[in-house]
Amino acid sequence: MEIISALLPHLMGLRLEAVVVRAVGVRITAATQTVRARCGACGVWSTTVHGRYVRRLADVRLGGHEVLVALTVRRFTCANAECWR
Ligand SMILES: [Zn+2]
Repeated sequence: MEIISALLPHLMGLRLEAVVVRAVGVRITAATQTVRARCGACGVWSTTVHGRYVRRLADVRLGGHEVLVALTVRRFTCANAECWR
């Protein structure tokens, strides 16, 4: 896991859940560790997780092998009752 962090520094700070190495490439399952996010509409910070979605980062290459990163991102809901979101 430390080797992955060294080779793919943009994955630092993520929780690596699985690394599967196949002949066609490498598949990395990771998740963000964000505990709060700021609402894009009103700017209020929220810690309420609304859901999760998986983002695929497929533009990563490692030593000629294709690396598929399946990144689970937390989605936060705005805590401000006045907010239109
Ligand atoms: Zn808001």
